[in-house]
Amino acid sequence: MQLPDQPVLRDIVLVGGGHSHVGVLKHFGMHPLPGVRLTLICRDTHTPYSGMLPGYIAGHYSYDDVHIDLSRLAQFAGARFFRDEAVGLDLGAGRVRCRDRPPVPYDRLSINIGSTPQMSHVAGAAEHAVPVKPINGFDARWRSLLERVRNHAGATRIAVVGGGAGGVELTLAMQYRLRGELRARGRDPDELRFHLLTDDADILPTHNASVRRAFARVLAGRGVEVHRGAEVIEVSAARLRTAGGQTVDADEIVWVTRAGSAPWLRDSGLALDADGFIQVSDTLQSVADSNVFAAGDIASMVNYPLEKAGVFAVRQGPPLAQNLRRCVEGRALKAYRPQRRWLALISTGDRFAVASRGALGFEGAWVWRWKDWIDRRFMAKFSQLPAMASAAPVAPSPVKLDQEEAAQAVSAIAMRCGGCGAKVGATVLARALDALRPVERDDVLIGLHAPDDAAVVRVPKGRAMVHTVDFFRAIVDDPYVFGKIAANHALGDIFAMGAEAQSATAIITVPAGLESKVEDVLFQMMSGAVAILNDAGCALVGGHTGEGRELALGFAINGLVDEDGASVMRKSGMRPGDALILTKPIGTGTLFAAHARLAARGRWIDAALVSMCQSNRLAAQCLRAHGATACTDLTGFGLLGHLVEMTRPSGVDAELNLAALPVLEGAEETSAAGIVSSLQPANVRLRRALRNQQDAVRHPRYPLIFDPQTAGGLLASIPADRVEACLGALHASGYGHAAVIGRVLNKGDALAPIFLVLD
Ligand SMILES: Cc1cc2nc3c(=O)[nH]c(=O)nc-3n(C[C@H](O)[C@H](O)[C@H](O)COP(=O)(O)OP(=O)(O)OC[C@H]3O[C@@H](n4cnc5c(N)ncnc54)[C@H](O)[C@@H]3O)c2cc1C
Repeated sequence: MQLPDQPVLRDIVLVGGGHSHVGVLKHFGMHPLPGVRLTLICRDTHTPYSGMLPGYIAGHYSYDDVHIDLSRLAQFAGARFFRDEAVGLDLGAGRVRCRDRPPVPYDRLSINIGSTPQMSHVAGAAEHAVPVKPINGFDARWRSLLERVRNHAGATRIAVVGGGAGGVELTLAMQYRLRGELRARGRDPDELRFHLLTDDADILPTHNASVRRAFARVLAGRGVEVHRGAEVIEVSAARLRTAGGQTVDADEIVWVTRAGSAPWLRDSGLALDADGFIQVSDTLQSVADSNVFAAGDIASMVNYPLEKAGVFAVRQGPPLAQNLRRCVEGRALKAYRPQRRWLALISTGDRFAVASRGALGFEGAWVWRWKDWIDRRFMAKFSQLPAMASAAPVAPSPVKLDQEEAAQAVSAIAMRCGGCGAKVGATVLARALDALRPVERDDVLIGLHAPDDAAVVRVPKGRAMVHTVDFFRAIVDDPYVFGKIAANHALGDIFAMGAEAQSATAIITVPAGLESKVEDVLFQMMSGAVAILNDAGCALVGGHTGEGRELALGFAINGLVDEDGASVMRKSGMRPGDALILTKPIGTGTLFAAHARLAARGRWIDAALVSMCQSNRLAAQCLRAHGATACTDLTGFGLLGHLVEMTRPSGVDAELNLAALPVLEGAEETSAAGIVSSLQPANVRLRRALRNQQDAVRHPRYPLIFDPQTAGGLLASIPADRVEACLGALHASGYGHAAVIGRVLNKGDALAPIFLVLD
């Protein structure tokens, strides 16, 4: 989470993490533009580099060798990363519609979403063929194909449809890999039969004759049957039929034909070419809307028709970054002229490649090594990121503003310099909150539906109130996700008590800025929070919003329990012999500390966010139903701190099994690297509660028992005879990581109450 001192004046939203946008992110990371906020919306966190994909399939590269980590790159660039899928545009309002979150407003928009398979025109293709596009999803499809071939007894016939560079490379890479796989299993690699079908008169139609000859030779030498002029018109479970009436039997069918455009663009209002790709001028701006840019496969340059190839997407990155920059600065844009000829290095799977440029063609193992060097150097630009600069001083923004915006910007800067505490304007607040739909409850007499000075809620007869409050600064720069996490974190106390959540009031600080930007951050954040509160049946009834340097959110939450207190789960009820259950994995503290230092992989952060966004509501119900004797939610004190908070009032000791702890992926790596949350040192003081601390100190999981959690799981003691059923019910309710992590012991003579089991 970075803290720019300059208020946000312009939003550049990048949709899709393709080959051009990774260049844009790197550019803005190296040369930030004060006052400009970048937001990347992408459905994937790890985006594949197409040039190395065949090498990955052949088995020469690992997953991380060929994927760019967008979460890390966005963090480096100071960009917000919204992991979501764009499903529409509202050009008039300047908003991107997303699948799983409120629309995202932009001042300038850039689209780099690649292409999608064109299969719908061939009967049966969508059901029976494995499409290579979109390439981001190909990894999962490839791995399941690999598994099927490994398990397929006897001969396996594989047909690849598409004779361009992608189809040819893929055929040879798959063949190389699969033959190796069969050999390693003691099977005959000749069990594999490959067919390559193209509707063109020859393979590689956009390359010169010597390159085509080279590949014809390689394919023939490797026993691949090439079907030229073979337009596939029908696909069934294990068979292809061509327009010429030929049939080809195949156990696996891979589709690598010319790709199409995203269907949702049709209704976007952007000008599209005949194939549905966005028509752009030489400045990469949409010819229909100069605030919208497009690059890579999805763009169609009206003056320079280009092949759909990653090489152009990469090349368009720098001019796109420059023009986005110039556009917000109000400067003239520069035309981009793609090269007429370009170098293609096409591999044959076995660490050999053919170079093709215009009429030139040459080949060799050295060409592969050259390609490997170029590709690795390209990837290093995005994996070996320079250390991030510490907070930059306030620099004047070159963004061009109108008079009203300039006045708002001046007052926002004054506000930041003067500290915090001012109230957000009533109009901004009203507009931001207007679209929220908090759940309505009969016991809320006066709430947001009829706002007043304060909310009035009724305590139903026979029930007592449970009060709790939590407040913390944004640990992620996606306000929608942060809203969800903050609400979950606050609700944790209510559920841990075995209570029903009734009503919530919010306390918010939001950095000052242009009204429209403040309004949107409030709206996004509170939409996330309300989604979680509504799911818990908890009505948002009011709140207070002030301006401050950092985005922060907290809630005072009221819950209800039966007046007799019978259903309350307290910390103090642990009984010797009970089993300890933890419902969610730990590790959020170290992971987010690592994220801030660019030391966490994007998929680790994704998994941590999913865990933090998961409510404890169902877990609490499960624990209660299985006779939980004590319960608490894991937050800032870490696992050990919260466990001691339970053992002490319960008058018991406990045994904690380190090997059994559910741990978020990556947390062991980041804590082993010495990366811990700033709260950890205070938690470590509690090591005196450990009976065998000296023996445990070198255990890889030892640091994690001190790791502070955000929106962590529930820690509960369950009677031993019910623990198995409880665990099964937790798993069935979606808490897949829930585990028995120890047991409750009689209070012993030792001063230290906790014994760690190390293996
Ligand atoms: C097997 C194979 C090998 C190839 N080899 C080469 C090669 O060696 N050299 C070469 O130049 N080209 C190659 N290509 C072509 C190349 O893959 C494409 O031209 C290239 O990937 C296009 O890049 P892009 O930046 O336009 O989009 P992509 O690389 O496809 O990236 C698009 C990104 O946008 C995201 N996205 C898509 N839709 C949405 C949405 N609605 N909302 C949010 N995010 C979205 C995706 O998740 C992805 O991260 C190959 C193709 C294949 C199939």
